[in-house]
Amino acid sequence: MRKVLFQEHFITPCKIVCIGRNYVEHIQELANEIPDEPVYFIKPNSAISETIIYRDGLHYEGEITFLIQKKRIVGAGVGLDLTLRDVQSRLKAKGLPWERAKAFRGSAVLSPFVPIDSWEGLAIEVYKNGDLVQQGGVDLMLYKPDFLVADMDRIFGLDDGDVVMSGTPKGVGSVKVGDCFILRLERDGQNLLEFNVCCLDSSELR
Ligand code: ZN
Repeated sequence: MRKVLFQEHFITPCKIVCIGRNYVEHIQELANEIPDEPVYFIKPNSAISETIIYRDGLHYEGEITFLIQKKRIVGAGVGLDLTLRDVQSRLKAKGLPWERAKAFRGSAVLSPFVPIDSWEGLAIEVYKNGDLVQQGGVDLMLYKPDFLVADMDRIFGLDDGDVVMSGTPKGVGSVKVGDCFILRLERDGQNLLEFNVCCLDSSELR
């Protein structure tokens, strides 16, 4: 089973619960409707990765992530909800489930988690090859983290070690071999975490 790092301990998430549309400007950039209830999907443990392995049509979505223990947020991090956008568009058009586009092996690139007392004021910055491409935070979220955790637990059940991906701000885009990302978690201009990850060709694996 794949693990994530929290306070020098390895944690094994059973699942990663994600929200599909949580920032208005990102909903608009994909020409989606603002949902009347949150759109959720789940990535399995086998989706967890600390690197990006290239696939055709790969897109990045930088997101603030939360680590759950005893039904509460105990840690925060950053991650990439990797998405096969063309596949997702085709599935969406047919009204079919999104797993092929969202839950494939390596589709959840997760940083280590830092302990937090509060999610208030958290924000993410995503740099692609040195350019700031995404910026957003909990202030811009339609559904705030405490609502998400309670709602996801009510529907799916959240277990110790599960991870929540809280949606992506505008500025998503494609990923090519050799692209390098810096994801920064901050609060009030203060850096809480920085995570560096590059896209590898699958032949570079192991
Ligand atoms: Zn996402």
